[in-house]
Amino acid sequence: MTPQSGKVFLIGAGPGDVELLTLKAVKALGMADVVLIDDLVNREVLEFARPDVRIIEVGKRGGCKSTPQAFIERQMVHEAKCGHVVARVKGGDPFIFGRGGEEVQTLTAAGVDVEVINGITAGIGVPTALGIPVTHRDFSHGVTFVTGHTQPDDGINWSALVKGGTTLVIYMGVGNLRGIVQALRAAGMDATTPACAIQNGTLPNQRSVVTMLARLPTAVAEADIGSPAIIVVGDVVGLAHQQVEMDALIYNAL
Ligand code: SAH
Repeated sequence: MTPQSGKVFLIGAGPGDVELLTLKAVKALGMADVVLIDDLVNREVLEFARPDVRIIEVGKRGGCKSTPQAFIERQMVHEAKCGHVVARVKGGDPFIFGRGGEEVQTLTAAGVDVEVINGITAGIGVPTALGIPVTHRDFSHGVTFVTGHTQPDDGINWSALVKGGTTLVIYMGVGNLRGIVQALRAAGMDATTPACAIQNGTLPNQRSVVTMLARLPTAVAEADIGSPAIIVVGDVVGLAHQQVEMDALIYNAL
């Protein structure tokens, strides 16, 4: 490999299950001299890397703060400029709440060749693990992906989201769940709208609760569901495998 041939693959590893990797991702991993791997990524993806690959962990470890974004970006630029093939592996899809856009901008500005390889985003792959289609002709004509990791004044227009009537898929929403549910209810969303939270979706330790909007924060607390979790709100949640349990919960709450 000549110094000119350095490049960065920005790879989405999907929500967890290693079999959800794309063929492109597997191919790129096999070409990498260096792998920068994020916290949320299933370590099983490394079986597709070369035995002599250098692995750099860039997520949170042992309660430490995440590796600063600027440091990761500098490291990628440096490695690529040394002529190395870099695989930057992120959870889900790099362009959905994954800072992939920022990284492409930085790498391109530094004159580094970068190729983005899509992954299955958690907002689609995780509901599927419960049998929930995020759109369905009978229930929802669209889907909105939104981050729940916001401050009250960050400007998510919950009332517009409720008016829009699409399925809501909320990333990073567990910490803020009570506030989110309050905002949706204040915007007029029905208390009995089917809602669920799924932690570690597609992995062996997947856990979930399926209930109705008004009960979601309590159900999540009772089941001790924490991050990383996806929250889905909308009638499509009624199609979840756990429908019987949901019906029972709604019945009990009425
Ligand atoms: N780029 C990623 C999202 C990164 S933000 C993607 O496209 O999926 C991190 C958030 O993704 C988590 O807080 C959680 O809301 C969600 N997430 C990622 N993996 C998940 C999983 N296996 N189960 C549930 N939620 C997950």
